[in-house]
Amino acid sequence: MSDKTGIVITGASGRMGQMLIKTVLESDKAKLVGCVERAGHDWVGQDIGVAMGGAAVGVTVTDDALEAFSKAQAVIDFTAPAATIAFSKLAAQARVTHVIGTTGMTENEIAQLEPAARHAVIVRAGNMSLGVNLLVQLTKKVAAALDEDFDIEVIEAHHHHKVDAPSGTALMLGEAAAEGRGVKLADVRDSGRDGITGARKRGDIGFTAIRGGDIVGEHDVLFAAAGERIVLRHMATDRAIFARGAVKAALWGQGQKPGEYDMIDVLGL
Ligand code: NAP
Repeated sequence: MSDKTGIVITGASGRMGQMLIKTVLESDKAKLVGCVERAGHDWVGQDIGVAMGGAAVGVTVTDDALEAFSKAQAVIDFTAPAATIAFSKLAAQARVTHVIGTTGMTENEIAQLEPAARHAVIVRAGNMSLGVNLLVQLTKKVAAALDEDFDIEVIEAHHHHKVDAPSGTALMLGEAAAEGRGVKLADVRDSGRDGITGARKRGDIGFTAIRGGDIVGEHDVLFAAAGERIVLRHMATDRAIFARGAVKAALWGQGQKPGEYDMIDVLGL
């Protein structure tokens, strides 16, 4: 009998969904036990390997998430906020680890995950890559070392399909900078400048979002002062880095106590 961790992928036809499926199929520690798409999607009822244009892999795409979750140890979910909230309830019911990569969730939506986290492990991160999570820690350190003579700006770039801005990663970096400075991001956040905005407010943390082409994800944290600038940069060139991090989180979740965790916990950073 295989001792691999059984994983379900939601949003199976999505950009990240397909990358996650490939990553799980290639893993020697995880196995694909289910793929979920919404009711009425063309892929429901098809073998996922065939739906993705390859050979059959013996896993049929279903729209019955609870049934799929009940056969797994973890679900990896890169979909949309409303779907993720619904999946969290089902993952809690099935007592499986819920790895959430979905971004663009409001505070209110994030709060709706709390009841599920009483019964199951939730690992949620706006970016699952090792590099970005290291960058988060570096950002916190640099922000703590510098005073407000250094203006902090987070600049991100993504492909033209992305629906939320600033990116989940940019917000993670902004939170880290705010934490380093000992302030709340909500009190100093400056997003979407346009028109006569007035001079930059000392202590603000600014966000700029670039959207174009097939950019996978690029993030700069700029610390700009009179006479010098520091730039911390991460560039993702392959979605596989997020998928590998998500699979790592799914494996890590096994044996943890129910609760909400992030990639800093998973990576032990
Ligand atoms: P995508 O290609 O649009 O895929 C989204 C998938 O979710 C689609 O299969 C979509 O199905 C499904 N979905 C959306 N709403 C749903 C609902 N209400 N019920 C069931 N399924 C639903 O997007 P993507 O580029 O893969 O990104 C997905 C999410 O992951 C985004 O929030 C993105 O920002 C995030 N992301 C996170 C990381 C990270 O490391 N944390 C990295 C990359 C991306 P339909 O096609 O039927 O709508």
